[in-house]
Amino acid sequence: MDSRLPKLRDALAGLAAHRAAPVAVAPSGAPILLANNESPLEPLPSVAAVIAEAAARVNRYPDAGCAELAADIAGWLGVDAERVVPGCGSVGVLQMLFEAVGEPGGDAVYAWRSFDAYPALARLAGLRPVTVPLAGDHHDLTAMAAALTPATRVVIVCNPNNPTGTAVRSGELLDFLDRVPRDCLVVLDEAYREYVRDPGVPDGLELARERPNVVVVRTFSKAFGLAGLRIGYLVAHPGLAGEVRKTRLPYSVSHLAQVAARASLRASGELMDRVERTVKERERVLAALADLNLPVAPSEANFVWLPLRDRAADLAAACAAAGVNVRAYPGDGVRVTIGLPEDNDAFLGAVSHWHTHGEVGAACPR
Ligand SMILES: *Cc1c(COP(=O)(O)O)cnc(C)c1O
Repeated sequence: MDSRLPKLRDALAGLAAHRAAPVAVAPSGAPILLANNESPLEPLPSVAAVIAEAAARVNRYPDAGCAELAADIAGWLGVDAERVVPGCGSVGVLQMLFEAVGEPGGDAVYAWRSFDAYPALARLAGLRPVTVPLAGDHHDLTAMAAALTPATRVVIVCNPNNPTGTAVRSGELLDFLDRVPRDCLVVLDEAYREYVRDPGVPDGLELARERPNVVVVRTFSKAFGLAGLRIGYLVAHPGLAGEVRKTRLPYSVSHLAQVAARASLRASGELMDRVERTVKERERVLAALADLNLPVAPSEANFVWLPLRDRAADLAAACAAAGVNVRAYPGDGVRVTIGLPEDNDAFLGAVSHWHTHGEVGAACPR
């Protein structure tokens, strides 16, 4: 049989299919999931009830325009609904934006390391990724401004940055925006906005209000605890929002996702209390890591970053052996989601054991 494939796009050659990492299970019980920056808590009863009720109606298509959801998001944020575009997770929203600006010969500029979905989304939209190294664990906005050329179609600032957790502040971000040409899209990826406590970190919505080339992307996956339902949104100038709406895959935001997000907004008080507990745990974990004299970046997100360089894979392996799943970026660092207090204690136990006993396998036979 002829096994040749049809002609495929060159862009696919540089990509790998996304797949889940294997989950390490503790000898003593359930795995501890600190690798994906999810909420550790199950949906609120009020949200779960709405999802269950909606499940009985999945024979019908969802609202293709997400109109009621967009109105509710707009109400919660205090912006006009015509500025809001929901999508299939904020990754889906990012894909819509890249589709809207991507043209062969164009560039996408972003920091590295940053969110690992950017390279593939850029390539699939026909854009050439142009990466600007972080300065330590922080965005280098001066270098990013210098990397912009007439070919740049989009520049992304992930604020706070995934995986390093650091946030850019108002002065430097305003200076940067002033240097971006008016015809180049700026994406402020604020997936972790609800966890930010540093008052010097700007609210992207205020920046997007004045600048038609600036768009803010947020999600229900993290602070709102709906990662499994795939729902995110952007806030942009009404004209830009109208154009980007054309790129949404029809019906890609399910009915379950739409009603669950609306119910979550109605329960936002309870959900923001959960966020506050996560922020308190973040501060506790950061302090404990500093006490161990481990390198750790300041964090404005629901995770912490240890820039361990060539020891990163080793720490991740030590955690996995204890059933604690963290995210390793070998040669670079380890990202650890803030979970429930007992999960964080399990991580801190594994990290201090590793720190005291050194290399995996040497001093702690398993
Ligand atoms: C988690 C994350 C997202 C979001 O994902 P969705 O689940 O697709 O909404 C987007 N951007 C960054 C930087 C993230 O870390």
